[in-house]
Amino acid sequence: MKAINPTLPRQSRGIERQVTGIATSDGAGVKLTRVLTGKLQQRLDPFLMLDAFGSDDPDDYIAGFPDHPHRGFETITYMLAGRMRHRDSAGNEGLLENGGVQWMTAGRGVIHSEIPEQEDGVMEGFQLWLNLPSQRKMIEPWYRDIASAEIPEYLTTDGVAVRVIAGDSNGVGGAVSRELTEPLYLDIHLPAGATFSTALPVTHNAFIYVYRGAVNVGDTKVGVQRMGILNNAPDADGVTLGAEEDARLILIAGKPLNEDIVQYGPFVMNTQEQIHDAINDFRSGRLA
Ligand code: MN
Repeated sequence: MKAINPTLPRQSRGIERQVTGIATSDGAGVKLTRVLTGKLQQRLDPFLMLDAFGSDDPDDYIAGFPDHPHRGFETITYMLAGRMRHRDSAGNEGLLENGGVQWMTAGRGVIHSEIPEQEDGVMEGFQLWLNLPSQRKMIEPWYRDIASAEIPEYLTTDGVAVRVIAGDSNGVGGAVSRELTEPLYLDIHLPAGATFSTALPVTHNAFIYVYRGAVNVGDTKVGVQRMGILNNAPDADGVTLGAEEDARLILIAGKPLNEDIVQYGPFVMNTQEQIHDAINDFRSGRLA
């Protein structure tokens, strides 16, 4: 694999603000940190939620997420470590494990379960919710399991390792691409002393989440378990990150939909009426 020399942006975005996640639990009592909460849905449009989970205590994750519905958006689960079995109402089943991604488009509706397939050891990863544009909220559901080996990776001349889950970075295309929201999802590992740059369209909302070490964006240090929202400076065409210590982070960006967001738990639509429809469809067995 030939090392890539990343293109330097003319101007890097900076950190607009940092966010500390909120410890919570979901499903049947899975402990997690909600990093992107409802309050940030407008600012980080088209992203609706980011949960970070990570524990070596099985009591924190073992019960998993039994059968539950979704409608109106996509869920992207990235498993750094651990094994999770998913089953859905369309009869699909898959195993998500170390370094793999499940990309699930709920569309008009799925009912699925996400249950750990391990009794001990570390389970660590992320679940990101990506909104669907209004005209696609009721499409047929779809999903893809992407094994770790299928995720494109590249190495930079500075020794930075980048996994391209979605979008395009320094000419390397990711495992998934999406029209309209154009998501970029990178997992970046910077060795101590390295810098890294990638282009970001000026229209996109973007953020980083550091899960090991710390990174610098301009003069701002973003520490471990912190989200840094990247500003939308009109002249900034990318971002440059630096690390004084070994660091790992995810970088996520997408094109805002600028549509009304109405969320009720696992349903995300554009109007209250559509939410009522989703609840009625679920209760009467018509959702999936
Ligand atoms: Mn789910």
